[in-house]
Amino acid sequence: MPRGNVPRQPSRSGRQEGARRAQGSPSLRKPAQAKSAEKKHAQKKKAAARSAKPAVGKKKSASGYDPLAPERIRQIIAGLDQLYPKATCALTHRSAWELLVATILSAQSTDVRVNMVTPVLFEKYPTVQDFAALEPEQLQPDIYSTGFFRNKAKSVVGAARKVVADFGGNVPDTMDKLLSLPGVARKTANVVLGTWFKKNEGVVVDTHVTRISRRLELTKQEDPKKIEEDLMPIIPRERWTDFSHEVIWHGRKLCVARSPKCADCALEKLCHAADKTWSTVAIHKEAQP
Ligand code: SF4
Repeated sequence: MPRGNVPRQPSRSGRQEGARRAQGSPSLRKPAQAKSAEKKHAQKKKAAARSAKPAVGKKKSASGYDPLAPERIRQIIAGLDQLYPKATCALTHRSAWELLVATILSAQSTDVRVNMVTPVLFEKYPTVQDFAALEPEQLQPDIYSTGFFRNKAKSVVGAARKVVADFGGNVPDTMDKLLSLPGVARKTANVVLGTWFKKNEGVVVDTHVTRISRRLELTKQEDPKKIEEDLMPIIPRERWTDFSHEVIWHGRKLCVARSPKCADCALEKLCHAADKTWSTVAIHKEAQP
């Protein structure tokens, strides 16, 4: 092949080809009217994109601050590790079944209250079969002080019956099977899987995790399922259970709902929460309570 006579390659983008076709073939040329409609459509799209709200954390602020920057997440996890090095589930339990019951009872209650109720309860009904043989009404007086006792009694007895009937008396160790038990949603399943079975299948999202994840700008959501969906991609999977326990402890000890103890918090420099009680960093406009 003579020097300089190199066959032309198609452009990777295909733009040149398209341009050549449009120029060379009159039949492919767009009429002026169509071109102007296309231009208007493109302008509209641009304007819509400008006015659309940015997805949570996907966009940096004007100052370049990104609440989901991996380095910031790493520092948050390190701060929590430092504050709560031995964090684990505060519900007293000796088996997966006891943990499952305690977690069901803990809804809208406190771990302290549940820990007062469960020792007596498990003394009275030592096995899952004992619970399965009860009518929910029989259980109600024993769990009355945890609140919502009618629903909770129904859930505990229903779960016991299904564990006995379908799982040979053993609490199952997969998300799908746990979710098939009455009264068990993702939060309860994550507690049992992470704490008892040591499986990181999700992040426990309770009231503390909701509040603190929002204060730390890890999510803008309020729905637990959506919060979990926001947290799972940014927290390393091997840390999901520990992260949940540590944040829950943080919510009990320092980052309480009213008047958080920010002056004692190892995360203070990373936190821009709008309701901080003490701050060494600027609180920006998008900061959340
Ligand atoms: S600085 Fe205050 S609001 Fe922020 S995480 Fe710590 S205790 Fe919570």
